Amino acid sequence: MLGYFEAQQAILERVRSRPVVQLPLLAARNLILAEDAHAPFPLPRFDHSAVDGYALRAADTLHASTESPAKLQVLSAVRTGSVADKEVTAGAVIQVFTGAMLPAGADTVVMVEDVERRGSEILIAAHAAPDKNIRRTGEEFSAGATCLRAGQQLTPPALSLLASLGMGHVPVHDAPRIALLITGSELIEPGLPLGPAQIYNSNRYGLESALDDMGLTVTALHVAEDHESELQKQLGEAMKRADVVLTSGGVSVGDVDFVKPALLSLGAVIHFDKVAIKPGKPFVFATLGDKFIFGMPGNPVSALVTFLLFVKPALAKMLGRAEHLPRITHASLGCDIKKRSPRTEFVRGQFRTLEPTRIVEPCRGQESHMLGGLATADVLIILDGEPRIVREGDQVQVMPINWT
Ligand code: AMP
Ligand code: MG
Repeated sequence: MLGYFEAQQAILERVRSRPVVQLPLLAARNLILAEDAHAPFPLPRFDHSAVDGYALRAADTLHASTESPAKLQVLSAVRTGSVADKEVTAGAVIQVFTGAMLPAGADTVVMVEDVERRGSEILIAAHAAPDKNIRRTGEEFSAGATCLRAGQQLTPPALSLLASLGMGHVPVHDAPRIALLITGSELIEPGLPLGPAQIYNSNRYGLESALDDMGLTVTALHVAEDHESELQKQLGEAMKRADVVLTSGGVSVGDVDFVKPALLSLGAVIHFDKVAIKPGKPFVFATLGDKFIFGMPGNPVSALVTFLLFVKPALAKMLGRAEHLPRITHASLGCDIKKRSPRTEFVRGQFRTLEPTRIVEPCRGQESHMLGGLATADVLIILDGEPRIVREGDQVQVMPINWT
């Protein structure tokens, strides 16, 4: 049976980044910038005031004090978005507002709070140093500088930055079309009444929202009962219309687990159908031409954990992320944990403290059908090696849970 790392590599070595397309800013939300973004002009683009106040010549306040304040003439005011109609000359000031272009002739700005206004004059009771409260042209980026690098995720501040460069469209790796095929005759949509042996379809909502957090949407949703011919038909439809097919359930060894036979009958190549991990052992990875099929176990915790371990890195690589593997760090165990299986265990854990040391403890409810633990977990605690008691105080690897 493949180990966690080998399975991840077997997937990633088959995945390529997708072609680059130009999308409107908001449509690129959470996707990955495909080319470095350069400043078409310096940022800031012009010298401007950082405060509401008065633009003046610092030299005019050289001897100002409380006893003998500098008395200066207000020539005019310049509003944000306008250009001053006058220049600042000796003994004169122009009123400015935050963001207003600095009037010619001024070399400093005094905050309105530090000034006493008397009609068309102001009094300043202290020396104003040159260059105060001015944001200079190009102080963040000079024209042509790289503002964001390819591989960066388009988070709200990243999109805001690209907008400030005037980009209406941004180059991103084209999002794959994703089909989600949920299997199980026992499943009912939330909001509808349940029959005696039925349960709610939770995986659809966990997986669709996990995709959404990555900036992806499900382009075709299929829900199939556990009938071989129905499942095959739905899977065939899903594979026709999508680049990536995610399936939930029906991949273990039960008599009604029809995903693998359906994949084979459609001509897909199954690269592996088991991984030495817990939860998530019956995870299937298959390809058909340039299409990818990820078969996730039906147990809700297994589905979401295998999404994080295998599907998310593959999608991240398709989307061109600079870093596509989950990060792994260390923490100290806050209590003993019994490692029951020889497989790599991904125990849902919570930080008890972060300072002065990171201490992590397992969440309540570690079985693969118990969503409560995963829903409140900060990390997956990774336990490798033989079954044993891992002791309180031991250093363990932890993978912070990050859906974006
Ligand atoms: P399976 O992998 O199809 O054998 O399912 C394993 C367990 O997960 C069974 O208890 C199923 O009822 C449950 N299960 C399968 N699919 C879902 C789903 N979409 N939502 C919630 N539970 C599910
Ligand atoms: Mg099932």
